[in-house]
Amino acid sequence: MWTYIFKILIFPAIVFANLTNSTLYTLCRNSDLYEILETIINYEARFNSKYHYDWVFLNDEPFNENFKLLVSNAVSGNSYFGKIPEYMWEIPNSVNKSIMYSNINKIKNDPDGVYPYYDSISYRNMCRFESGFFYWHELLLNYDYFWRIEPGVKLDCDINYDIFKFMIENNFQYGFTISMLEYPKTIPTLFDSFLTSLNNLNKLDLLNSIENYSDFITNFENNDYNLCHFWTNFEIGNLNIFRSNDYNNIFKELDKFNGFYYERWGDAPIRTLILSLILKHPQIKRFENFGYQHEPYLQCPQDIQIKAENRCSCNSKLDITNKWYSCSWYFDGLNKRHSKIKMIRPT
Ligand code: GDP
Ligand code: MN
Repeated sequence: MWTYIFKILIFPAIVFANLTNSTLYTLCRNSDLYEILETIINYEARFNSKYHYDWVFLNDEPFNENFKLLVSNAVSGNSYFGKIPEYMWEIPNSVNKSIMYSNINKIKNDPDGVYPYYDSISYRNMCRFESGFFYWHELLLNYDYFWRIEPGVKLDCDINYDIFKFMIENNFQYGFTISMLEYPKTIPTLFDSFLTSLNNLNKLDLLNSIENYSDFITNFENNDYNLCHFWTNFEIGNLNIFRSNDYNNIFKELDKFNGFYYERWGDAPIRTLILSLILKHPQIKRFENFGYQHEPYLQCPQDIQIKAENRCSCNSKLDITNKWYSCSWYFDGLNKRHSKIKMIRPT
């Protein structure tokens, strides 16, 4: 009898009281169904089947019934499906569409070639949404921490602890796995616009601070943007930081330049520039021991003991960390020194 009462009443209370106020989060379309199912099954097996965290799915169109049925059955926690309000996913009135299309045409005719998604308006809406709006969506307002997951990504090692709890207990505000260089042609005026935004807010000093991560985003030689960005298809963050005045004031200033549409600013460099200035060492965590992949790159631990303990299925020889176009080896160096160092890229 007492065992029965314990099982029904007390045991679930212990388990659930232990969970942090966090959610897994995916932005996707109905057409991403099969890719997101593969990813959910992988994340459940490697992590969430031990914790049963909620999973929030957002879309610029309503999710259909098949999507909701198959997805909610694959997630071990509660699934929530939301539509993004139009004002978060549309070209703002301040954008002059003829300038936007004429810039897209210039890229199309660029003899040096085009860059990914250069002509997709929905991709631009997506980048702006992920930069300055997702954390205001009503379904995410309920949570403190989120873990962003995209259709098609894969964990290659088990995560044997509550990663959200780990973030909170260690006072980490943002976590990532892969970081790398951005295509310069997608952001020709981003850094100048960023400087103007900081100046308008009287915050230019942040660029010279050694307490924050300004050294992660600037060149040693000339303080220009070094193109490093956290790859946002894997990110764990404190939503309250994204909802802070510090983050949003800078985002709103930057957004006035309409660079999501006149150029093709990605959410990753935007996120990285702002967070690197408003967070202080050591509030950003690189999860260097996670096996993780998003085409065409992967992170895979080198240590054989770590791989064995976490049942990693990846090939360490393919790990991106020390490649010249990665910024993770550089991040690790900064973290140890907390001051500006000269970055010498491996060849
Ligand atoms: P990439 O990682 O930069 O190659 O871009 P993705 O195609 O993976 O898009 C990034 C994220 O935004 C993924 O989670 C996509 O599912 C999502 N996404 C991109 N475009 C759209 C769109 O038009 N509608 C919706 N609902 N999601 C989108
Ligand atoms: Mn992707």
